[in-house]
Amino acid sequence: NASHLAVLFIDLDRFKLINDTLGHHTGDLFLIEIAARLKECVRENDVLARLGGDEFVVLLDAIQSQDDVEDIATRIIERIAQPFDLEGQILHSSASIGISLCHSHYQDANEILRDADAAMYQAKSLGRGRYVFFDESMREQLLASMTLEQELRVAIDRQQFELHYQKISNLDLSQVIGFEALLRWQHPEKGLLTPSEFLFMAEETGMILEIENWVIEEVARQLLSWQYSPEFDNAFIAVNLSGRHLTQVSQLTKLIDNIRKNIALPQRLILEFNESAFEQHTEQALKGLRKLKALGVKLALDDYGAGLSSLNFLYSYPFEIIKLDRSFVRSLKNNEKNLSVIRALHELGQDFGYRLVAEGIENEATLQKLHAAGCEFGQGYYLNRPVKMERDESSEDENQHYA
Ligand code: C2E
Ligand code: MG
Ligand code: MG
Repeated sequence: NASHLAVLFIDLDRFKLINDTLGHHTGDLFLIEIAARLKECVRENDVLARLGGDEFVVLLDAIQSQDDVEDIATRIIERIAQPFDLEGQILHSSASIGISLCHSHYQDANEILRDADAAMYQAKSLGRGRYVFFDESMREQLLASMTLEQELRVAIDRQQFELHYQKISNLDLSQVIGFEALLRWQHPEKGLLTPSEFLFMAEETGMILEIENWVIEEVARQLLSWQYSPEFDNAFIAVNLSGRHLTQVSQLTKLIDNIRKNIALPQRLILEFNESAFEQHTEQALKGLRKLKALGVKLALDDYGAGLSSLNFLYSYPFEIIKLDRSFVRSLKNNEKNLSVIRALHELGQDFGYRLVAEGIENEATLQKLHAAGCEFGQGYYLNRPVKMERDESSEDENQHYA
């Protein structure tokens, strides 16, 4: 019978913030108080240690069952969640805990710690103030995400990205008014990847900023190649942008310079943001949005109807275009009430100065309903799928082999 040991890896949320805003003295007091509280939660023969920074480790000895471990972890989380009084300052923190149970296949202590650390990381990403037990799939996940991150860096260096374009049409089908540029990654082994497979990592690491500056340059080349095309010399291109551009002044400046330098006719560029761009630093993001608008580009709110979809976006944000999310559009199939929402949104648009674009139109019936409700523009598989646009710079008149 293997000895029953468990390792708890404890990380305190907001320690860095406390240190940075209230100074190291308060930070120290905080750590001392944390240590005292942890000590109350463990038993006589358990080992409590500080690894450094705000990381603590507990080695639980003589564990009878997983329940024992869970009891102690819960106790720690509850104790840390109680407010701290540090020389009159009332502060709050929380603990994220990763747990590994010691099995015989461990070779040395580092491996146990490493796994508890991985579980802690998972606990944090699930929303803090909780514990997570390590399991094997976690290591695989961690490895996969490290690989993805590295491969993304290579992808940027070697320019493995490309844009596919989906038409946006007038819903009476008389004409194509523009295109939405959608990012694709030509992965050397996995083939063509769509954003759902890599965008989260690009966002998390900030690599999205660099990628999207490339997108702008690429779109500039596309617009340029249309300048003598009788069919598309008025078409616009919409690009999706991460909210990260808006909240960091230096990034916004970079984006603005890029647009100024490369986009000859800014009125033909549409910048799409979705509401997640305004979740944090709302004022700052709104200010950034206004600066972009001053360049002469058009602004669109993407995925309206998927999230909270506050009315605020319709009247106090400078969007000229509201894109109805495809989940909402799909619901029209068997929900007449949602059609009246679209009718109302269309009418509000006439007062507030925006126009509607429906996404994800997959059949004729939906198209007709949207059109009847006043939605002017749309895109979707029924109209066409996103495709790569061939561009032959040397012969300007045979360069549109889109589907
Ligand atoms: P989005 O901006 O809402 O783009 C529309 C998505 O719906 C595209 O998915 C498109 O292929 C898909 N779609 C179009 N018509 C239909 C339809 O009839 N039915 C269904 N079910 N889907 C349809 P895609 O290309 O996979 O892109 C997914 C999301 O990734 C985009 O949603 C956008 O939010 C994001 N994205 C794409 N390119 C970029 C980029 O360069 N930067 C950023 N930040 N996000 C991007
Ligand atoms: Mg979009
Ligand atoms: Mg959308």
